[in-house]
Amino acid sequence: TKEKKALFIIFGGTGDLANRKLYPSLYRLYKNGYLNEHFAVIGTARREWSDEYYREVVVSKVEDLADTKEQAEEFASHFYYQSHNVKDLEHYTTLKNLADRLDDKYQLEGNRMFYLAMSPNFFGIIAENIKEQQLITSTGFNRLIIEKPFGHDYQSALELNTHIRSSFEEDQIYRIDHYLGKEMVQNISTVRFGNQLIESMWNNQYINNIQVTLSESLGVEERGGYYDTSGALRDMVQNHVLQIVALLAMEPPSIMHDNEIRQEKIKALRALRLYSKDEVRLNFVRGQYGHSTVNGETLLGYCEEQNVAEDSQTETFVAGKLFIDNVRWSGVPIYIRTGKRLAEKGTQIDIEFKNIPHQLFQTENDEPLPPNVLSIFISPTEGFSLQLNAKKIGPGVKAEPIKLTSIRSAEETANNPEAYEKLILDCLNGDATNFTHWDEVASSWEFVDRIREAWDETTMEFPNYPSGSMGPIESMYLLKKDGFQWHWSP
Ligand code: NAD
Repeated sequence: TKEKKALFIIFGGTGDLANRKLYPSLYRLYKNGYLNEHFAVIGTARREWSDEYYREVVVSKVEDLADTKEQAEEFASHFYYQSHNVKDLEHYTTLKNLADRLDDKYQLEGNRMFYLAMSPNFFGIIAENIKEQQLITSTGFNRLIIEKPFGHDYQSALELNTHIRSSFEEDQIYRIDHYLGKEMVQNISTVRFGNQLIESMWNNQYINNIQVTLSESLGVEERGGYYDTSGALRDMVQNHVLQIVALLAMEPPSIMHDNEIRQEKIKALRALRLYSKDEVRLNFVRGQYGHSTVNGETLLGYCEEQNVAEDSQTETFVAGKLFIDNVRWSGVPIYIRTGKRLAEKGTQIDIEFKNIPHQLFQTENDEPLPPNVLSIFISPTEGFSLQLNAKKIGPGVKAEPIKLTSIRSAEETANNPEAYEKLILDCLNGDATNFTHWDEVASSWEFVDRIREAWDETTMEFPNYPSGSMGPIESMYLLKKDGFQWHWSP
């Protein structure tokens, strides 16, 4: 049967992530039969809540997904609340007793999912106490799901990992990167390895450059306090951007299993060229948004946002040129960029192929033909587009670019499982494909730390891009000096 039996213990059960993502995702798993009679959830947080109140909250978060209110209430009847201060040892004993009781009541066979949906400062101490206060069962599986950020540099990530690893084995640890739960991120491997046409050309003989853009149109909103200590490099590049780069660059695994795939991603990340400080200045651009008026609406500059230092040097934009130093990718630049308050929200990958060696055709204006480009639209649009050159209708032999495009319709994507829903199900199945291995985290931080260190030596004239643009002009020069340009320019 497809039903999974498990007890979920959610640390941070009153928080934003739990409310917005976890409860709806658990609900969808319930509706689709992956969770049924044999599951229970313990929500823990500092506040004093009753089970009844907690269930009302849960119902309110899933009601619009339910066929009937009864269905939502039936689901919520599996939820239990335990107020808990994560630093207080006694509370873990209370939690253990409740967990054991629910294990009996719902016949959960000792399967436990510990979900750490709270401040990363507590990840280590919670993991330690779960083990020491014996919440880990000997009969079923025990898995720890950890939210981002995993450290704020290599050293702190290593310390956190060492702390967690003293209680959990690597194969019990599921580090969330929710981009890996996105349909179209998972589609990168399918399109690469499922098509001879693509895979045979996926190397430095045929590819000119690769471009990865993760563009946000919003500013920092109410997250200023956190963001100001992080910045785009740590918040986006270390995890999501480099995970996408790893999927694009890795060698084909022998089979599509978590161990094999993650080994290939680790190898790709280890081959990332680590820059000297001078190379960082040549190959990386940082930016911070200033205020502007877009469509009559005045948008605040980053330093005017709530909980942000007036003279903040935090970057809200990063663009960079990466190299993977191996046989497949030698000489192929991978350009990345991500930022807030950009012109349009979207995540997109563009693969630019080399031109054929001898051009027989020109455009109508006698220009050389543009390169072939494979675009992968991750979100909000989901799909592909392949730009080719074809004959222009009419007399003569002029050519023009055309696009073969496949975009998923709104109806199709409306039924997509949510990233969190897929990731929680993967974790229930013990499939770690779409979670980051420690070795990936380590390599990513080593790469990112080099950039951070070089940046920290100089002060920038911020702001250097207006809200609603595509970032500082230097991010255009980054490609222009190599004879390229960003394919996606809203
Ligand atoms: P939040 O501040 O909304 O929730 C924090 C939770 O932790 C609350 O339930 C609070 O009661 C509890 N808590 C705090 N201190 C406690 C203590 N000493 N003892 C017991 N409970 C305590 O945070 P959030 O936005 O839900 O984020 C949780 C985690 O998820 C963070 O690691 C964050 O980086 C990550 N994350 C969140 C989002 C999101 O969309 N909210 C997205 C990606 C990652």
